Amino acid sequence: MRLITYQSDSGPRLGVVRGEAVIPVPGLDMLTLIETGEAGLERARAASGSPLPLASLTLLAPIPVPRRNIFCLGRNYAAHAKERALAGDKNKEMKLPERPIFFTKATTSVNGPFADIPFDAHVSEQMDWEAELGVVIGKSGRNISRQAAMERVFGYTVINDISARDVQAGHGGQFFKGKSLDGACPMGPWIVTRDEVPDAHALPIRCRVNGMTKQEATTAEMIFDIPAIIEWLSLGMTLLPGDVIATGTPAGVGSARTPPEFLKPGDVVESEVEGIGVIRNRVVAVA
Ligand code: MG
Repeated sequence: MRLITYQSDSGPRLGVVRGEAVIPVPGLDMLTLIETGEAGLERARAASGSPLPLASLTLLAPIPVPRRNIFCLGRNYAAHAKERALAGDKNKEMKLPERPIFFTKATTSVNGPFADIPFDAHVSEQMDWEAELGVVIGKSGRNISRQAAMERVFGYTVINDISARDVQAGHGGQFFKGKSLDGACPMGPWIVTRDEVPDAHALPIRCRVNGMTKQEATTAEMIFDIPAIIEWLSLGMTLLPGDVIATGTPAGVGSARTPPEFLKPGDVVESEVEGIGVIRNRVVAVA
């Protein structure tokens, strides 16, 4: 199933995408659906209201207000780990991470799949793109083994981990603040349930800026695959239904280019994971 959250006059609503139409699922939101597991999915499957044209709806992030921060991986594609390590110093030694590098994005960074990305030059002039596969956790658990990890996955979405490089560098090289600006986590356009994705580790992933391809890889290139990510992240730390994990970005980010490139007002950035979907966001200056 493809599950969306869309804007209605009375607030966010849940819907099931069937072809070019959306069937509203009354009385349920995405987080509740995920928490209720098979019963929630059954209600979505059985939805039989009047179809709405998908193209007529304003889509929100599938989980517009996550319960907690978005979990993210740094340097989870070898070619990207290399380009970030060598940015500014081509002779530096480059080591791949031996364990996943985790950080988070604030819930207030979550943005719609086709919403504008705010650009405030007083805050950052180095906004960068990072197309990523998003994994949505279905069942809670702690100390989840690799073998049991995929059963905990509810589904998949597309994320752009928009990153303010100057804010990252300006606060001691941390990730959190530079990754957490308002609107810096466009997500969607929907959640594709796990049963519809036979192999999440074989999906072409791309980012285009103004139609030019900047990132192109496949999810097979992750250093830590989804089972390994879930095993490490859940070690001694409970994962909850509705948790979202951004699994890292391929090579081709703007800051590692020669010369570096950054997003500017008017740019349109598209993130695509084949088999999941495409999100498209315009960068818009705010006062
Ligand atoms: Mg990232």
